[in-house]
Parts: sequence; structure tokens; C-alpha cells
Amino acid sequence: MNGVPVLSVRDVSRHYASGDSIVRALDGVSFDIHSGEVVGILGPSGSGKSTLLLIAGLLDPPSTGEIFIRGRCVSSASADIESLRDFRRNNIGFVFQKANLIPFLTAVENVALSLEIDDIPARDARFYAEHLLESVDLSHRIDNLPTRLSGGEQQRVAVARALANDPALILADEPTAALDSVRGRQVIGLFRRIADSQQAAVAVVTHDPRVLDLFDRTIELRDGRIVAETSVLTERNNSLQNATFPQDHSQ
Ligand code: ADP
Ligand code: MG
Repeated sequence: MNGVPVLSVRDVSRHYASGDSIVRALDGVSFDIHSGEVVGILGPSGSGKSTLLLIAGLLDPPSTGEIFIRGRCVSSASADIESLRDFRRNNIGFVFQKANLIPFLTAVENVALSLEIDDIPARDARFYAEHLLESVDLSHRIDNLPTRLSGGEQQRVAVARALANDPALILADEPTAALDSVRGRQVIGLFRRIADSQQAAVAVVTHDPRVLDLFDRTIELRDGRIVAETSVLTERNNSLQNATFPQDHSQ
């Protein structure tokens, strides 16, 4: 089931100065995510989940430790910002809790825009954007403005947009938090399909117990450390039955 490691997090810590004290948002975290895997990142509010995704997504540098993506060390302090940005654009797709679509552009225009930013000509961008929306089951909604889409549909447009650069790694921070159970499962189901069809590696931060069975594995953080981890598919169901899932309404 497992492919090659796409994301490798090696002994990563992230410390923030807060007045006289130091907040250890992440404290010696290590794990891999392989191609074709959908991994849930769990943990209560403040446990370091968002910090971890920002660091894995090269949006924030670790204080210590290393990040490898597709075997390349991308956390080196000497890496220049422009090449990191290019690397991110070519390899990583992000999905957040809110879809953050541009309100005056239709679904297809929202997706095409991110392709045009990558210098793809407008006609090709639209054609490919239609294809991406089809892949998230939104062929019938491509010309709708965001206000004419349900929350779940907006989030699927955001997923299509995240797929525009054909990412090897997809990072999603609470993508189902604003959705009802059925639509939340649809979004995670979509990641499952993308992992299978494109061999992408997917990390999803969630507190949502309704989607846990859709993950290959889970990693649970507390106070910036990994406190529980399920390792293989066959262990998954047993571990999940015993796991606790704290509710968080702070986001
Ligand atoms: P989670 O996403 O699990 O709720 P976060 O990663 O957002 O947790 O935060 C982990 C810890 O780091 C929290 O104590 C938070 O207050 C702190 N933290 C996060 N970002 C910053 C920042 N930019 N400056 C200072 N402290 C931060
Ligand atoms: Mg968070």
C-alpha cells in the first residue's frame, strides 16, 4: 500500500518567543508520509497541528530539524526564498478550513486563475480547470459564483484549485470543519481518490470523528509532540476504537 516517502519530517521543533517565555509549538516531531497515503493529523487545539502544516508546506521554517520533500532537504536556512516558492508551487497543494474563493469569479475562473498565475495560457487554463472541477464532481457548477455554491461545493472548488499544479503533497488544515457530515466525508473521500489516482501524499488536520475511518493512518499531537500514531491499515480500526477525539470549537 505504501509508496515512496513524499514528506519526511525529521526531529522538527518550532519555538516562538512569547514575552519572557518560549512556546514550544512543535517539539522533536518526526514522521513520513508516503505517496498514495491519506494521513490524519489529530490533537486538541494548540497542540501544534497548524504549525506542523505550515512548516511541512514551506510557509514557515522550523527552529531546528529538517523537512524533506521527495527526498530533497527543503528546510535548509540557506535555501533562497524564490527557489523555495517555486518548489512549493510545483509540489504542494493547500486546502484550508475556509475555501477562500474569489467572490466575483465563477468556480471555473477561480481554478483557472491559479493556472494562469503559473503562466498557462487562458484557454488551456480554462480547459484544464473544467477537467479539475469534473474530477471533484462539479461539472454542473462550473459557471456558478461562490455565493451560488453550497459550503461543500465551495470546498471542492478549493480542492480542485489545490490540484492545479498536480501536487505530490497535499496539506489540508481542518477542511471539513465548516461542513456537515456527508459533505465532510465527501471532501476526505476526494483526497482518498486523489491519493489513489495520482499517488499523491495527503495530510489532513482534523478533529472530525466522522471522517476518521477514511484515513490510512493517524498521527496525534499533544503539546507539540506525537503522543499516538497508528502504523498500518490492519491496526487502524482497533486503534481508532480506543482513541479519544477532543472537540475543539476554537477555530
Ligand atoms: P493547533 O493548530 O493544533 O490548534 P497551532 O499550531 O496553531 O495549534 O499552535 C500551537 C501553539 O503555538 C499554540 O500554543 C499557539 O498559541 C502557538 N503559536 C502558534 N503560532 C504562533 C505564533 N505565530 N506566535 C506565537 N505563538 C504561536
Ligand atoms: Mg490549527
